Amino acid sequence: MAHTAKDFVVEGGDRDDVDRLNQALAYLDQSPTANAVMQRLIATKTTIKINHEDDDSYQSDSNTINWDPRSGLIAIDPVDNAGSIGVGSAALGLAHEAVHATDEHFADEQACDIDYDFVAERQAVEVEDKIAQELGEPQRYNHGGETVWVNNATEHTATDNNGGINWVERNPDGATEVVGVFKPGSYPGSAPMPEIPPPPPPADVPTAPAAPAGNSASPQFQATATTPESPSTLVAEKLLQARASARTCLRELEQQADLVPGLAR
Ligand SMILES: [Zn+2]
Repeated sequence: MAHTAKDFVVEGGDRDDVDRLNQALAYLDQSPTANAVMQRLIATKTTIKINHEDDDSYQSDSNTINWDPRSGLIAIDPVDNAGSIGVGSAALGLAHEAVHATDEHFADEQACDIDYDFVAERQAVEVEDKIAQELGEPQRYNHGGETVWVNNATEHTATDNNGGINWVERNPDGATEVVGVFKPGSYPGSAPMPEIPPPPPPADVPTAPAAPAGNSASPQFQATATTPESPSTLVAEKLLQARASARTCLRELEQQADLVPGLAR
């Protein structure tokens, strides 16, 4: 069946974001695999919490998907180290998290996996790749990638008949439109649509007025003073996460190595 935002528990975001969610859902419905996953997501009563902070993740404790409808993912060549190979849509990112949310074994799949960080990620990326194939999006063979800002949640890259790679999106009529050319190996900051400004840098974000003396701990002021993270902060954070994940992986492998007679660490 066809899905709209009304079928889901949605939190956060503005009207444009709900439009983007509807775009994403109509687009994902073109993939039988994604359609089935989203149907299961309705049954799990998972909350889709919209953000603009490049946070695509699934929190099992609160059964919540965090989704940024403006972040696409640049897929990277895992074999030849040739850099970027294309861009997956924000909608595909939502489908990836939906796979986690509907994965009954999610909690048991936290063992490390060299290419995918965790077993749960290998499972999710495998389903994601099937969806990508059905939608004509690039597949990825690892859990990596770089963020690219998009305005349309369906915006991604697709290879044309001549082997060229184009930016395409699903327009409101459901037709696929070419909106630009993608250069393999490049890492654009945003999709090629002139009317889409990238998110403003932190310096442009208005900060809260100074709290009155003696009232500095006011929760209201703390809330309004929160500044969205800049792309460079996010890269730094991702780097820290990747290092932590690599350390966990190494520790697990060392423990396994200890069980192999004669194998030095
Ligand atoms: Zn994941």
